[in-house]
Amino acid sequence: MLVLRTIAEAREACAQFRASGKTVGLVPTMGALHTGHLSLVHAAQKSCDAVVVSIFVNPTQFGPKEDFASYPRVFEQDCQTLEAAGVDMVFAPSVEEMYPAGATTFVEVAGLSDRLDGVSRPGHFRGVATVVAKLFHIFAPDFAFFGQKDAAQVAVLRRMVRDLRFAVELKVCPTMREPDGLAMSSRNRNLSEGERRQALVLSRALRAIERRFQAGEVDSGKLIDEAQRVLKEEPGVQVEYCRIADPETLEDVSDARPGSLAAVAARVGATRLIDNLLLSPKAL
Ligand code: AMP
Repeated sequence: MLVLRTIAEAREACAQFRASGKTVGLVPTMGALHTGHLSLVHAAQKSCDAVVVSIFVNPTQFGPKEDFASYPRVFEQDCQTLEAAGVDMVFAPSVEEMYPAGATTFVEVAGLSDRLDGVSRPGHFRGVATVVAKLFHIFAPDFAFFGQKDAAQVAVLRRMVRDLRFAVELKVCPTMREPDGLAMSSRNRNLSEGERRQALVLSRALRAIERRFQAGEVDSGKLIDEAQRVLKEEPGVQVEYCRIADPETLEDVSDARPGSLAAVAARVGATRLIDNLLLSPKAL
């Protein structure tokens, strides 16, 4: 497995794969890898000849009061995981490599970026779009793999790819969960045992929405009320939002339909967690 630290190294390595006619798949991550990340890697390996995983804790997507400094960083362990998974390249640049001193150029996906997580995290999606655009420029991947877990990110990046005419196809992989329903997240490492138990309320609330929807309720207000009732079972969990939205525009919908996005964000102790699901049609 090649471990690439500079953009020049990355371009050179990628050019060699391409020269031998290989397609390249990119899996952008911030490291502290878990089974959710690996599911993206496996999807990439299925459809691409060469797979590159980037590990970069991107400062521009963190607000000044957010957890950039304390975000888990376990690079050696991540490399062992990726090597064992048979990944071809890891790209782990420094902040200076990705953002030359005095960099003032950003990618702003207007409209979408201030919805859902963008409300409480102003600038977050600008940071995400900027760093992913840079990765697309560096690797010019044929495919790039993202998790449904970050539904708003998917919407923002889809729009960016369309608007900037990137020649990459986005592939979205399902959210991987722990056996008890908790969506896998690097931030789960920061939860105490008690918080970990409380955090289960997020997926429980989403499942409550799905149950009511499948039983025939389409009124988003009522579906959200149901979820809020479940969320109140854990008074220590501070809900930031619970919404039903269009997965492409991220705008609230008043009537839910199959494919609508039910999404929740909450703070459990000091840790902010998100989860979502796409409503499936009524069970027959
Ligand atoms: P992160 O390292 O948190 O920036 O995540 C890197 C990629 O992994 C993103 O595309 C995430 O959506 C995806 N991802 C994170 N958690 C999960 C999960 N539980 N299941 C599937 N994909 C995930």
